[in-house]
Amino acid sequence: MALRTLADLGDLAGKRVIVRCDLNVPLQDGAITDDGRIRASLSTLTQLLDAGARVIVISHLGRPDGERKDEFSLRPVATRLGELLDRPVGFVPTTIGDATTAAVDQLADGEVLVLENLRFNPEETAKDAETRQGFADKLAALGDAFVSDGFGVVHRRQASVFELAAALPSAAGLLIERELDVLQRLTTNPERPYTVVLGGSKVSDKLGVIEHLLPQVNTLCIGGGMLFTFLAAQGHHVAKSLLEHDQIDTVRGYLERADELGVTIDLPTDVVVASAFAADASHEVVPADAIEESSFGANGIGLDIGPETAARFAAAIRASNTVFWNGPMGVFEFEAFAAGTRVVADALTEVPGLGVVGGGDSAAAVRSLGFRDDQFGHISTGGGASLEFLEGKPLPGLEALGWSK
Ligand code: ADP
Ligand code: MG
Repeated sequence: MALRTLADLGDLAGKRVIVRCDLNVPLQDGAITDDGRIRASLSTLTQLLDAGARVIVISHLGRPDGERKDEFSLRPVATRLGELLDRPVGFVPTTIGDATTAAVDQLADGEVLVLENLRFNPEETAKDAETRQGFADKLAALGDAFVSDGFGVVHRRQASVFELAAALPSAAGLLIERELDVLQRLTTNPERPYTVVLGGSKVSDKLGVIEHLLPQVNTLCIGGGMLFTFLAAQGHHVAKSLLEHDQIDTVRGYLERADELGVTIDLPTDVVVASAFAADASHEVVPADAIEESSFGANGIGLDIGPETAARFAAAIRASNTVFWNGPMGVFEFEAFAAGTRVVADALTEVPGLGVVGGGDSAAAVRSLGFRDDQFGHISTGGGASLEFLEGKPLPGLEALGWSK
């Protein structure tokens, strides 16, 4: 079945259109540190506004755990959205209720209103479908049509993603269309050689993708926090580095499976080990099989891949026609441990074919390291969503829009 798109919604002039965006941007002391997700939402919003719709933007921000917490207010996001759209953007500090309804009633054609953080309401992420349905119905009462464009949340069965799509005439926005297009190129006959680079810190979340990817790729490069579980699976000591003990056997299985399939799992041969998890920690490069032999002994913490490994990963990337990269190679937030991520990002800008960056922190990393979005084939706004797509898992937020593989 095909994904319903904006054209399927017909003429939207004068219609109240609810748009679910993923405006979950990183904030520091109330300031937006990376507005990539807001920028990614502009094309759909602009198209709807140009069509004369009355646009109601909904999103979550952070994890306020179902209650109002001012530091997770979408107000600064609404302000930034106004700057980027270059037109007034209204904001109402409630998600549903009388104040919201009144604000929606005052919207004129071609105007935008941002509602407060969806996750201030516990119903948004409730486990129980009926509770979510109740919330979705209240949201649906605010609009005439629904556009789902928060690609970063399509893998979530949440009220504003799943139930809301069934409560109104609904379609995918342009961002979701773009994201799907690229991910489909990764899963349907990718041009070879195909290299996947995995890193980051959500180790157990990401191990699952390996199982599904192994039969599809030529090379899998492992960096970031998960590399230590791989080193441990090979029998090496990793001192105080990030390690998921209960995944060691699973990882050993992946190594054997890769062998059978003739797929290369490229594991670091050198790592940067630090005395502590801190920006100014002393550090040194050691062979990956001798982490405990660094000057910090059993207290060392691996915080980046070493230069030899980074150079090898970069060479594999440059020699590939398709590359998907998710997860920073090290703790790039600290300059001393950003080198591995920088080298990999740099190589990705030179992929002759399709080079994709996926993941919130990975996207933030390349931007904070000074790369421009247009240097990459595609920067996905959804880490979890893109990984689950590559894993072949059903994505409820897409199925609710008529999509199936
Ligand atoms: P993404 O959002 O791109 O999917 P993750 O959320 O999985 O990526 O991981 C990002 C985080 O991983 C970064 O904050 C980075 O500091 C951290 N990280 C990378 N390497 C290590 C490591 N060796 N030890 C601890 N954390 C790491
Ligand atoms: Mg992340």
